[in-house]
Amino acid sequence: HVSTKPPPEPSPLRKAKFFQANMRILVTGGAGFIGSHLVDKLMQNEKNEVIVVDNYFTGSKDNLKQWIGHPRFELIRHDVTEPLLIEVDQIYHLACPASPIFYKYNPVKTIKTNVIGTLNMLGLAKRTGARILLTSTSEVYGDPLMHPQDETYWGNVNPIGVRSCYDEGKRVAETLMFDYHRQHGIEIRIARIFNTYGPRMNIDDGRVVSNFIAQAIRDEPLTVQLPGTQTRSFCYVSDMVDGLMRLMDGDNTGPINIGNPGEFTMLELAENVKELINPEVKIMTVENTPDDPRQRKPDITKAKELLGWEPKVKLRDGLPLMEEDFRGRLGISRKK
Ligand code: NAD
Ligand code: UDP
Ligand code: UDP
Repeated sequence: HVSTKPPPEPSPLRKAKFFQANMRILVTGGAGFIGSHLVDKLMQNEKNEVIVVDNYFTGSKDNLKQWIGHPRFELIRHDVTEPLLIEVDQIYHLACPASPIFYKYNPVKTIKTNVIGTLNMLGLAKRTGARILLTSTSEVYGDPLMHPQDETYWGNVNPIGVRSCYDEGKRVAETLMFDYHRQHGIEIRIARIFNTYGPRMNIDDGRVVSNFIAQAIRDEPLTVQLPGTQTRSFCYVSDMVDGLMRLMDGDNTGPINIGNPGEFTMLELAENVKELINPEVKIMTVENTPDDPRQRKPDITKAKELLGWEPKVKLRDGLPLMEEDFRGRLGISRKK
């Protein structure tokens, strides 16, 4: 017998917390790529106090150097797989390596981060009455048999492959979120993020946009993995942060796709990088890795209708913004 009773009403304490002026906001994984841009945006509001929790596996203090020492900012070295006892009003839960190289490096740890880490943050949300947002991923759709992917699609995921620690880890994280919501009345938000790019990406994390830009700047051939006709849809990081904040502050639990529907093959992406960054650079094809999804494009109807959100930055405008940051970090200026 399955209970159909509705989730409990938020407690008066939780409601009061939502309407109070000052917000204490926890960002797990805040020293990473998307997290640090989110922190920049949250810190612009003088009513926010921001606490970052990060174990620095793929993130770095450097991404937050502009805030270290600020009275409304706090940085804690902590692993989310361990319990965390602090007082917060909102939790943006991003902690998890996002690049295949890093999440495959220690797959068991990736699963622990997704499962135990999310469980702990939900326990924290339950104890404090905070609202919690999970950054899930388009990878929950696996190698999708539906195109483009909308949120009703259940996915086509290999449970025992080399990507499963990440894909299945995020799927369990979503399940935990909904079970805490139904069972304990926790206020949840789930964003399904599609490929995101921008300044502060790890230069050598193996993701396609960071690889191609670094290669173009270093005058090395762009490595298109075979067949090269596989597609991805790339969202600029400022659009992503805007979408996440609208989801957190709105009334819908999600899951909601946040991504840019502009779809490109990897060969097209290489051609764009070549044209914009280094017209002399060569394009070569190399072997691919197992279980690489063949196509990916978000259906963002729900984000448009429920959040009034859609991406503004086109790929050809975003790539040069990233080039500037990469040139600075690589110490290679543009040839005259
Ligand atoms: P990132 O690797 O730059 O950031 C992740 C951060 O989490 C890092 O600072 C890392 O040190 C930290 N971290 C990892 N494990 C931790 C642990 N156990 N305890 C504490 N901190 C830990 O990645 P990102 O691109 O900024 O991704 C942020 C989130 O968005 C992730 O949850 C990722 O799954 C999700 N996401 C990103 C993309 C994308 O294209 N970048 C796509 C889909 C989903
Ligand atoms: N937890 C945490 N911070 C808190 C409250 C809980 O890290 O402020 C952790 C706690 O250690 C537990 C998990 O979150 O492992 C789930 O907590 P919950 O209260 O839901 O479950 P229980 O402790 O009853 O197993
Ligand atoms: N890719 C590529 N060259 C590279 C790195 C990646 O052609 O140097 C391809 C990869 O095969 C995949 C796509 O780019 O089809 C996106 O890969 P990435 O690791 O950036 O993200 P994800 O697979 O997680 O979407």
